[in-house]
Formats: sequence, structure tokens, C-alpha cells
Amino acid sequence: MPGLAAERTNPVFEACAICGSEDWNPVYQGPVRDGRFGSLTAPSVVARCGGCGVDRLDEENCRDEDFYSSEDYRKSLGQGSDTAAFLAGHDTQQAERLKVLGPVSLRSCKIADVGCAGGSFLDQVADLAAEVLAIEPGSAYHDSLRQRGFAVYPFATEARDHAGSVDWAFSFDVIEHVSDPKRFLTDIAELLKPVGRLLLSTPNRDDGLLNLAGEAYRRFFYRVHHRWYFDAQALTAVAGQAGLMVERVDYVQRYGISNAVTWMREGRPSGDQVLAELDNPALDRVWQDHLEQSGRADRLYAVLRRSDT
Ligand SMILES: [Zn+2]
Repeated sequence: MPGLAAERTNPVFEACAICGSEDWNPVYQGPVRDGRFGSLTAPSVVARCGGCGVDRLDEENCRDEDFYSSEDYRKSLGQGSDTAAFLAGHDTQQAERLKVLGPVSLRSCKIADVGCAGGSFLDQVADLAAEVLAIEPGSAYHDSLRQRGFAVYPFATEARDHAGSVDWAFSFDVIEHVSDPKRFLTDIAELLKPVGRLLLSTPNRDDGLLNLAGEAYRRFFYRVHHRWYFDAQALTAVAGQAGLMVERVDYVQRYGISNAVTWMREGRPSGDQVLAELDNPALDRVWQDHLEQSGRADRLYAVLRRSDT
């Protein structure tokens, strides 16, 4: 996109919020997604920090954190902002998270979901827990979360009464949005018991389609809602700065081979739609296993614990 790239001056990248480095090197230049597929920004820059290895979108094209407190965020994704609409769209995604969590008992635990939105994950695990903290800036969800018996806080910093007492914290697909990931993880770490754990997820910036599907996929993968882009190494670096250490990393490939082929052939997602020629669950399983085993899957999960214990 030489014409478009020439239309803008290089954005200024301020000192890294995670490590303080001012050494930024571009890894992507071009338009990025603004909401649904096909909605694009003007040319933007994603650069890698030479200190901690995190990638970030230039601030000019990022959404303010206030955006997530309003209904505009879900609307921009074409999703409903009320709780019923959220639950209808997200309940089925929770099986993936429970599978990654594995054989862990949450019985009698104090748990927290940081950025829980409508609370789909909490609904799956709350019955076993002794106490549930629903931490969510989007106030549209608060009444419903309270009605389900959860203690509701807009931010972890406002749940300080629970410092050092949470057995398991969860945060799914949130860290990539926040203005300061180091602060975000520090605030969660302060909630954890010395033996507490945090399970978080974020898009994997080693996603194999970034190479296989080239430019079309890159302008979809990078998006205004995501300020930060992590691989396991960068996530380990920010965790270390926040007093946490990565205990385990898991990769999950959500989309099957039909989606990958459609991206490579037509430069667009097919989502869960299966191509007739590839309609064999065994193909998807091999494809997904391959990406997960090689760390090239679309989703990155990590279990973290306090590094002072
Ligand atoms: Zn950095």
C-alpha cells in the first residue's frame, strides 16, 4: 500500500508502558480493523518494543479505555450491549476456557473474573465458588451480575478489600485492550493469595495465518480495540514486570481449516462455515492440533502465579 502509507507521517511511540524503552521498530504498516471485517482505519503502525518485545498499535488509532465503559464497544462489534444478548453470544465459548483450566477444583474458592462482561464464564463456575468477584467496566452488565450474586467492581483497583485473598483470577481477552498491561497485571496480582493463580487469554501474535494469509489477514488481526499484541515471550516479560511468573502456556486454535483456506484464497473469514470439499472433522482436528502444538494457534492462554511466593 505505498500510496496510502505515504499519506501519513510516522506516529510517535512514547516510552513503553511496560518496560520504559523508547526503541520501537515497525512490524506492520497499513490499515487495521475498526470493528467488523471490512471496516478499516487509515494507515496505522504496529511496532515492537526493543526492551520487552511487546507489539503495540500507534496510540492515535487506539480506543480510549472509557470506550469500554460505554455501550459503544459492543455496538462497534455488531454485538448487543445488554446482558441477555451477551450471554446468548458467549455461553458456548466457555467450554474452551474450562478445558484449558483443566482438572482444577474451584470448590469453596474466592474467584474473580477481570473484564467479565456479561459473566458467561462466571455462570459456569460460580456454583462451586465461595465468593465471586465480577470486575467489569461496562456498567450495562452490573445489575444483572449483582442479581446473580456476584460482588461487582468496575476495576480491580476498587476491589482492594479483597487484596491477597483470591484463589483463582481469570481474565479472558482483556489485556490487549488496556492502556497499561503492567498496571493491569499488577492490580490482579495484588488480589491473589500467595498460592493464587491467574488464567488469562489473549490473541496469539504468532497466529499462523499472519504469514499464510498475508496482508489481508494482518489488516484484520490488528485492530483499533487492541493496543497490545503478545506472544508467550512478551507475555512472560510483562508478567515479570508485574510481579507474576508464567507457569504454563497453552495454545487454542478456534477456527478450522475451511476458514484458513478461505482467508488464503479470498482474503476474508468464513468463520465456522465449512467448505464442502473440506467437510471432514478429522481435517480440522489435524489442522488445529498442528497449530496448537507449534504455537501458531490463534489464541494464547497462560497460567500465572505470584513471583514472590
Ligand atoms: Zn517494552
